[in-house]
Amino acid sequence: MKVTNLDDRIHVLDAETDVWKVVRDIAESRVQEEAFYVCDIGDIVHKHREWKLKMPRVEPHYAVKCNDSLTVLEVLAALHLGFDCASKAEINKILELGVEPNRIIFANPAKPASHIRHAAALGVDTMTFDNETELHKIKSLYPAAKLVIRIRCDATLAQCQLGMKFGCNAVTEAPHLLQVAQSLGLDVVGVSFHVGSGCGDPQAFHRAIASAKMVFDVGTNLGFNFHLLDIGGGYPGNKGTSIDKIAEVVNSALDEYFPDPELVRVIAEPGRFYVASAYILATNIHSKREILNGEDVTHIMYYINDGVYGSFNSLLYDHSHVTPIPLNAHLSKLVPSSVWGPTCDGLDQVVEKALLPVMSVGDWIVFEDMGAYTLPVASPFNGFPVPKVHVVANESIWIMLKDLTPLTEDHFVMGNTPANLCMGLDIGGRGSIQDWAIPL
Ligand code: PLP
Repeated sequence: MKVTNLDDRIHVLDAETDVWKVVRDIAESRVQEEAFYVCDIGDIVHKHREWKLKMPRVEPHYAVKCNDSLTVLEVLAALHLGFDCASKAEINKILELGVEPNRIIFANPAKPASHIRHAAALGVDTMTFDNETELHKIKSLYPAAKLVIRIRCDATLAQCQLGMKFGCNAVTEAPHLLQVAQSLGLDVVGVSFHVGSGCGDPQAFHRAIASAKMVFDVGTNLGFNFHLLDIGGGYPGNKGTSIDKIAEVVNSALDEYFPDPELVRVIAEPGRFYVASAYILATNIHSKREILNGEDVTHIMYYINDGVYGSFNSLLYDHSHVTPIPLNAHLSKLVPSSVWGPTCDGLDQVVEKALLPVMSVGDWIVFEDMGAYTLPVASPFNGFPVPKVHVVANESIWIMLKDLTPLTEDHFVMGNTPANLCMGLDIGGRGSIQDWAIPL
């Protein structure tokens, strides 16, 4: 597959360059003023390795909604993940990569009719439901679909709860829904749940898998051939977090309730786990206001060029918290500070209170863990552009990925220093590591 947008190419870094050096080089290039991202493909590949190691029985189907960047999707397709799509546009995006329809789960329990028709036309046959109306809709639009009943099981602690909107009660609603499906002649093949995004209650997976087993038994007694368990999303992805505890709970609950991998295929819909930590965002201080008490500065307000209408929409919609990292922490005393986005809205506050060293206009503030639920929602409100993403990978990641479809040699570019990239001096695209070693 050809790369249509040259900005989407993955820049291969030499052995001396890491992601932080890329951030620093671009920020200090003297031509860069706009906020920008650096996305490290290696981080995504490492996450996948971690997933395979820790939950070998669970096949990840990446939740496209979390970050639908073309390069991220291509990398995940190359790693042979499946995909969780919520709409016809997401389905198109994945199929255009050459991914087979059977690697997609249409995991939206309330689907517009035209989207169901679209899935039917393209053969994306596995889809979730949690209510009777949806069953009738599917009966009339895609009677051959393979249905997955979504049950509700909420984590006691989660960054974003989903249970108030989706998931039927496993005891009081699921049996009736399965009877309706049976009377309509529909094929229900399994059970799904989502305990809540950013799950802080690993035991929720045990409760949910136990409930799923109950629903499996009801389905089997009704004569359905249940063989799919979808354990949803919820796995944390920020630096310093771990899926160890969740993996331990999931693996032991699977052993307890679904011990035979020949009988039940287990999939999941991780989003933030795969992408959160791969993205670093660098923002520039364009204005500054000091609050005085007499001669003393009691508080400093920094205005940066990305805010809650842009990348930091995640503060509102994803209930995230961000930590400002001054790129050049001068040795100065720490002053109570706040960080504000660039728009004229008072709501546009990125950090309410932090102790920060004194910084100047032109200095950079960097934020880690910005890959999940940020860019797909960001808008250029007030005329402040959504930051550009520089995608990078080291040599070993390049060598591993370059021939894995849909990636090709063409997706990678060598021979650019990060600073000449942002100056528009893109001399790369030579396609071999030997060429890349030629001094410029
Ligand atoms: N699956 C569904 C149906 C979702 O709604 C979401 C997120 O909202 C996800 C998967 C991804 O969740 P997470 O990013 O917590 O893994």
